[in-house]
Amino acid sequence: MWTVEKNRKSVKLLSGLLAVMLLVTGMMPPARISAAVPSIVQLSSTYTYAEMCQDIAELTQTYPGIVTSGAIGTSVLGNPIPLVILGNPAAPRSIMVQSSIHGREYIVSQTTMATIEYYASRYAAGEYGDVLASTCFYIVPMVNPDGVTMAQMMNPSWKANANGVDLNRNFPTLWELTKGASAPGAANFKGYLPGSEPETQALMNLAVSRDYCCYLNYHQQGNIIYYDDDLTSPVVSQLSAALARTVSAINGYRPVNTAGSNASGTTTYGGFGDFTLIGIQKPGITVECGSAYGAAAQGQAASIYLKNVETWAAVARLFPS
Ligand SMILES: [Zn+2]
Repeated sequence: MWTVEKNRKSVKLLSGLLAVMLLVTGMMPPARISAAVPSIVQLSSTYTYAEMCQDIAELTQTYPGIVTSGAIGTSVLGNPIPLVILGNPAAPRSIMVQSSIHGREYIVSQTTMATIEYYASRYAAGEYGDVLASTCFYIVPMVNPDGVTMAQMMNPSWKANANGVDLNRNFPTLWELTKGASAPGAANFKGYLPGSEPETQALMNLAVSRDYCCYLNYHQQGNIIYYDDDLTSPVVSQLSAALARTVSAINGYRPVNTAGSNASGTTTYGGFGDFTLIGIQKPGITVECGSAYGAAAQGQAASIYLKNVETWAAVARLFPS
């Protein structure tokens, strides 16, 4: 009991500190801040793969009715790639979320985990019943655990997996048109074959395992939302644009339509977004959070989380049950 009371006091203290910090920087209105501070997932320092696995175990124990977990496969170095299921798997709608396909962008793993805690804790307090009764979120908070660890321990610029393949250029959709580095390394090498990497294969298997309403892809950096793609159907284009507008209205990030940008040579295919938008013709957006990545962005973790936390409910409510 004493521990619970102490934790409550700590959360209250942290909540107050965060509120003051964000008020000073003018990031969020004060009313939403105290309700949103997580107590299991910390946002203040480097978030490791081991810490995330520990938090997943704690969240499933604390919120057994609403958070469950599993794995979608294993990485090149044999690390399980966790899957967190938020909501009722029997719900009529499903949304897939994936973060940190690029190693150096590991802060979006932290903010994604904090978002899971937010909805689980609010649901336990009687909120978001409409969202979580009708929608189940399938979340891969760290697609590339080896790349994250390499970015944290060896090379802060490391985006690729442990084979030096940029996973977000390794998907089979228009892979042959994808350019970039000619050899394995920290970034931009698409692999020797499409879909060659275990992390790519695991994410593809999850992506086609059920009829998702949409896909939310979290990256760093830019404070922008990419939507649409070449070769999408009008329905997919319209839904992706609606997703971008909905999320932008909450987080303030700028929507960017990527359809047609290949004409100027700026589009790179072979990404997970290409696989979902073109390959299986499903709507989705890529949210580029914050204005930096890695350690340089650690101070932005709390504000990225607060700006984006309400977007999952808004996206779920876009789709009729
Ligand atoms: Zn990225």
